Amino acid sequence: MLNEQSDYGKQPFIDIPASAFEVKAIYWTEPDRSVIKEIKAFVAKTGRPYLWPRHTHTKPPKGARPVYLGEFDLPEAYLRNSTLHSPCPCCCPKKPKFALHGKIAWFPDEGVIRLIGPDCFKTLNPSGHEEAVAELRRREARESDIAYLLRLAQNVRFIRDAIDENLEIATAVEKMRNGVLAALDEHNIPLWNHVRNGELKITKEKIRVSQSASGATSRTSKIIQKTYAHIKGYELVSPFYSSIVLSLTNARKMLDAIDLSAKSVAEIEGMDDATRTTTARGLKQTLAELREKLQKLDELRRFASFETIKTLKTWATREDAALNFHVDRKDDKLVIGASPIKCTRLLIDLAVDRNVTWIEEMKATDFN
Ligand SMILES: [Zn+2]
Repeated sequence: MLNEQSDYGKQPFIDIPASAFEVKAIYWTEPDRSVIKEIKAFVAKTGRPYLWPRHTHTKPPKGARPVYLGEFDLPEAYLRNSTLHSPCPCCCPKKPKFALHGKIAWFPDEGVIRLIGPDCFKTLNPSGHEEAVAELRRREARESDIAYLLRLAQNVRFIRDAIDENLEIATAVEKMRNGVLAALDEHNIPLWNHVRNGELKITKEKIRVSQSASGATSRTSKIIQKTYAHIKGYELVSPFYSSIVLSLTNARKMLDAIDLSAKSVAEIEGMDDATRTTTARGLKQTLAELREKLQKLDELRRFASFETIKTLKTWATREDAALNFHVDRKDDKLVIGASPIKCTRLLIDLAVDRNVTWIEEMKATDFN
């Protein structure tokens, strides 16, 4: 394919078949997504855009106005070897010129598609190029919103189911929280003050004996705090708690109100751009917040886990613990109080032991 001809500059001439130069004036209306997809697949496979059968390898006429339908890069191996870069019909039709951000340029007035270099058209028609680039970016944003919403439409019922399942856990966790806070209050146990960052502290007294110049000895003691253990779910007793039930319910309402699952492809494509962008942004934000709340829920429910309760119980009975009280759990009974005799027994909903149902990241699949 490549003809090394050392007497013509640094780069070799590329053998371009005559068929590439033929004018294929067949695109009198805007080519649809399948054409863009086909071109991208062809370039990815062959690394030679100029051989795509419907590419027209001629220089555009003066004042031509292109519409950029998409961009392409040559495959990895072609990027690294500059002799394998692609020629550009606008400015460099027979020698390697570009490898990245090639443009799929549709010329409506001539009815042709040219696969051209990233900025080549700028020299022929600067304002035409800039307009076409701006329009391409709008087009890409539009396609990305459409792809995102279509994917979400396919998944929205699973997301709703996940919210409903997680709502049961969140309701159980909040009920437990109310019970735990009331019991701590009743028995005057300031637990939050001692678990603010999940660390359970123990105190140790350190005694130091020193001798003065006159030979007299003196003792000083110092209380030092050490971390005994870390526990999960400690934020359950935080006073700065914002309701997860409320957040999940709101997210559910938002999904119900927009009800993407009831919308057809044509409806999503037919929305005006501003509405579609706002909708996509709103949903992205809602789902991001939802994921954050689910992380939190998964953390909070672990307050009642066997591991946490056991650690708390062992710590809280230690002589050197910063706080002494009694806590224990058996099946659905959580016990909190000053001692095993003087305590409150809470019934907890076993949904707190359930795993949270996660909601996957909804990436927009590329149309092109
Ligand atoms: Zn060019």
